[in-house]
Amino acid sequence: MNRDLWSYSFNKLPRWTCPHCQQGLLHSLGNYPHVEETEYSKEDQKLAESEPDWTMERFVALLKCDVAHCGEVVAVGGNRVAELFQDFEGREQHWESALVPLFVRPAPHIIPVSKNLSPACNKQLGKAFELYWLDKASCANRLRIFVERLMDHFEAPTTKLTKKDKVHLLNLSERIEEFDKMKPGHKDALDALRHVGNYGSHEGQIDTAALLDCFELLEDALDELIDEKKAMLAAKAQKLIQNKGKNTW
Ligand SMILES: [Zn+2]
Repeated sequence: MNRDLWSYSFNKLPRWTCPHCQQGLLHSLGNYPHVEETEYSKEDQKLAESEPDWTMERFVALLKCDVAHCGEVVAVGGNRVAELFQDFEGREQHWESALVPLFVRPAPHIIPVSKNLSPACNKQLGKAFELYWLDKASCANRLRIFVERLMDHFEAPTTKLTKKDKVHLLNLSERIEEFDKMKPGHKDALDALRHVGNYGSHEGQIDTAALLDCFELLEDALDELIDEKKAMLAAKAQKLIQNKGKNTW
């Protein structure tokens, strides 16, 4: 995952991968970005004590996939803000304007979406990509729901019999523990997603770096759980060894 693509602000919008064909790159269409400053911001700029970061500007932009037969169009909107930079020695400072996207639809995929993912998982991941721009805490919550749907996909138990033969409904933490007995090695990653989702739900805000860590952990876990990448590579290696290096295509 290239974190530069998912920053808070951009000098110019990055060339995200197309969310429709997942092959092409998005490029900006004409009149990009369309920016308007509010009238109250213009008034504020007349004040002697006004700073560039008092400016309030909104922008919209259309991006198009460069694969001819796809041509997906993505709408982006948000604020244009002034950001203060200083040189390495901290002596000189200067302002630069940057775009802060708050809405990107359809949303580019922050991690690859496997064709083998269940529709229920797919739906939650798609919502997480959209909410990433709009509301980071809601995005974290969607990732937590994604983990629940992933447990359903692998048919991790939902109940357990107690010693008194009563049926106990397992919470997500307990389901992850049961799942670890079925497919070991992913408990910590899934628990981390659960914790970040819980924190986002209760506190209403979440750190962007923590959220990107979650996507990174999820990407790694899905490579193994859904696409079994290591097993596939091991099988390819075995085949090459058996054929003494000759490919058999
Ligand atoms: Zn495309």
